[in-house]
Amino acid sequence: MSKTKVVVLGAGYAGMRTIKELEKKNLDIDITLISKNNYHHESTALHEVAAGTSTAKDITFKINDVLDPKKVTFIEEEVTLINKDDKSVSLKNGETVPYDLLVIGLGFESESFGIKGVDEFGWPLVDIPTAQAAKKQLDKNLNNYQLSQDEKDLSIVVCGAGFTSIEYLGEITNRLPKISDEFNFPIDKVKITCIEAMPKLLPMFSEELSDYGIDVLKKRGVEFKVGTPIKEIKKDGVVYEENGELKEIKASTIIWTTGVRGSGVIGASGFAERRGRVMVNPDLTVPDYPEVYMIGDVSAVMDEKSGRPYPTTAQIAIVQADHVAKNIERRLQGKEQEAFEFVSQGTVASLGNNDGIAHAFDKDFKGYVASVMKKGIANKAVLQVSNFSTMMKKGRFDFYH
Ligand SMILES: Cc1cc2nc3c(=O)[nH]c(=O)nc-3n(C[C@H](O)[C@H](O)[C@H](O)COP(=O)(O)OP(=O)(O)OC[C@H]3O[C@@H](n4cnc5c(N)ncnc54)[C@H](O)[C@@H]3O)c2cc1C
Repeated sequence: MSKTKVVVLGAGYAGMRTIKELEKKNLDIDITLISKNNYHHESTALHEVAAGTSTAKDITFKINDVLDPKKVTFIEEEVTLINKDDKSVSLKNGETVPYDLLVIGLGFESESFGIKGVDEFGWPLVDIPTAQAAKKQLDKNLNNYQLSQDEKDLSIVVCGAGFTSIEYLGEITNRLPKISDEFNFPIDKVKITCIEAMPKLLPMFSEELSDYGIDVLKKRGVEFKVGTPIKEIKKDGVVYEENGELKEIKASTIIWTTGVRGSGVIGASGFAERRGRVMVNPDLTVPDYPEVYMIGDVSAVMDEKSGRPYPTTAQIAIVQADHVAKNIERRLQGKEQEAFEFVSQGTVASLGNNDGIAHAFDKDFKGYVASVMKKGIANKAVLQVSNFSTMMKKGRFDFYH
């Protein structure tokens, strides 16, 4: 009898962790990983690449360096469609890969919410190319000021005040004073504005922590506009609504970090989805497709306490992957699938290299301690999706500068 074919899509936190756990279990199965790049990138650090405080090399590692080739076949290719009724996956190169069991971890994309001009003029942070492009644009505009003397070249608008936006603001406000001499721009003329539609900033933290975080960024020169929905992104400005009036901030650098959605492949493949995410069964399979597991940012798992799905994070993606590997093992042993349960380990946001806010172990932390926690969590995540030597090479051990 031929071996069960397990195909894993995406080499993010969800996909890589599933592979690492399946490798450890030594099951008698064929494992194939399909991902569009030959590297894993730490999505949780994309804002650093976009701000220029880390490079792509710092936050990536080669997939083949951490896989066991005797156990896993890696295909570097883009998935275009999941043919769920034929149990196969179509690739951009025209090939089709069949599966008996499928684990989908295709991650997130930028969400425009249908706002005019976002796709043309907003710089999203969703993968390595977009983060590098955002950094290039920022540096080009700052450099150009010398010639143009146009103040909009020194104006940066960050759209949205969620996690990614706040962490990006932490990084650029650390970096800009360090590069103003090199790029020859007056730091006191730099204008950084963060525009948020919701009435409250950082609602996932206590009022004290949220006030601390916002205060740190304000002291570094960030101006927040809150309860002010964005209406249009232009080539050189952002139009928003304030007190019923349309206003515009001129800016050459416009960072689009208002939110993300699950991979477009999910909708294109005909799954019952909302914003690229499928509400999965308790065992993390897809309704009507018991051989298909969906985890990470393409999945939605209901939090019974709040009555809303858990926020999509690397943290939940990794524990979902552990659960799916365990359920695959149980299935092969003829045992029942177990229901997934999630207990959050906490929430940490960085505010640049040496500052941050955190809620963990039922306590609030801020400042340097929170930033050390953030680096420790990032190192643990690298270990969970690779191996010890990769964690030692790529980890963050710069706790003291
Ligand atoms: C700046 C930033 C900071 C964040 N900070 C935190 C944090 O502090 N803590 C936290 O828990 N979460 C954080 N998150 C959220 C976290 O990064 C995501 O929830 C997490 O990356 C989801 O993991 P994933 O494996 O589902 O998707 P991803 O990490 O997006 O991985 C998807 C993988 O699929 C591949 N892929 C995509 N499309 C295709 C295709 N069509 N064909 C083949 N391969 C494909 C990609 O190349 C990638 O390898 C942050 C996110 C951002 C952007």
